[in-house]
Amino acid sequence: MTHINPYYSRLKTSYLFYRINQTVDALRRDHPQERLLLLGVGDVTLPLAPAVIAALHRAAEDQAKQESFQGYMPELGKDFMKQAVADYYARRGTKLDPAEIFISYGAGDDLGVIGGLFAQENRVAVIEPAYPAYVDTNLMAGRTIVSVPGGEDNGFLPLPPEDLEAELVYLCSPNNPTGAAYTRAQLQQWVDWANARDAVILFDAAYEAFITDPAVPRSIYELPGAERCAIEIASLSKTAGFTGTRLGWTAVPQALIREETSLHDMWVRNRTTCSNGVSYLLQRAGEAALSPEGLAQSGKNLQVYRANAKILTDALEVLGLPYTGGKNAPYVWFRCPKGMQGWDFFDFLIDRARIVGTPGVGFGPCGEGWFRFSCFGTPADTREAAHRLREIL
Ligand code: PLP
Repeated sequence: MTHINPYYSRLKTSYLFYRINQTVDALRRDHPQERLLLLGVGDVTLPLAPAVIAALHRAAEDQAKQESFQGYMPELGKDFMKQAVADYYARRGTKLDPAEIFISYGAGDDLGVIGGLFAQENRVAVIEPAYPAYVDTNLMAGRTIVSVPGGEDNGFLPLPPEDLEAELVYLCSPNNPTGAAYTRAQLQQWVDWANARDAVILFDAAYEAFITDPAVPRSIYELPGAERCAIEIASLSKTAGFTGTRLGWTAVPQALIREETSLHDMWVRNRTTCSNGVSYLLQRAGEAALSPEGLAQSGKNLQVYRANAKILTDALEVLGLPYTGGKNAPYVWFRCPKGMQGWDFFDFLIDRARIVGTPGVGFGPCGEGWFRFSCFGTPADTREAAHRLREIL
């Protein structure tokens, strides 16, 4: 008899986006004439940059001709793409060797498999509320999760607790769902904590492009010592609108050694075994997205999302509701009014204003009583949502 992975039974049924989608479907069915304002799901809405589209066309033409046709891609990424990523960091003064960069189909894919580098007995610290993959991938692998609670008292940016016992820690800054972002000094405390204990940080940089505050690092490698303790997982999904196109990368520094073994070499071994590389077309698209021209074009989209964030945070300030995010992040995270619980406020917003958001409790118990708005909606919907919020609260 085949024995299944027993740890899948530890997973809770995730009904967060399922319930949200069901509600939206029912509203569309029952009230087709009403304007629904969708600020729930964290997916981009603006199209790809013209430079990216042109690169995709050119790459398709390459595949049509004998002399430029490409077969299997190198498992770790094409040199031009790794160089494009290294240049992207270098322009901000962060030095990464292209050999330390592994091209992926996006952060989600690598978050799903990076745990394979680590033994089951490692305890995994997760800052909560959290992006669900950090917890679920480790539950599937049979690891123990240690929750590090975020809350209003620490601005949802907890620093390493003195009694924290863990060998791995997930950090996401700017954070999904709270939009909070660690300053350089705060993140340095986590780096020092990890180096003092030979722990490893898995740093999720999916939202780095939204950072405007110079005190907030865009990569963990801006901090001294991070190359000895951190793996960075990044993506073009939100930076350049690639959620449906797919491209990202993971950086594993050569200096990251545990138990006298190079994690970089282990990841090379993992990728060359478990991957046949990322599509040539997407790597050409990614190269164009990271070119100065591509970044300038997608930067205009980021400005639209930032303006949405400002509309929402202005409304919250008028209403006097405490919030985080919106400044260096495309999420606004705020306390539900009148002491409401997340799902009650979700129903209230739908009934009274036809606004769809995300209850914070869907990201872990620390999120109860808080609520997330995404800034990736249309400006018209975002303005109307801010207007309706002020009317009903
Ligand atoms: N990490 C965080 C914090 C995210 O919010 C997301 C997607 O929303 C991802 C990773 C996955 O991104 P990708 O589209 O690159 O798989």
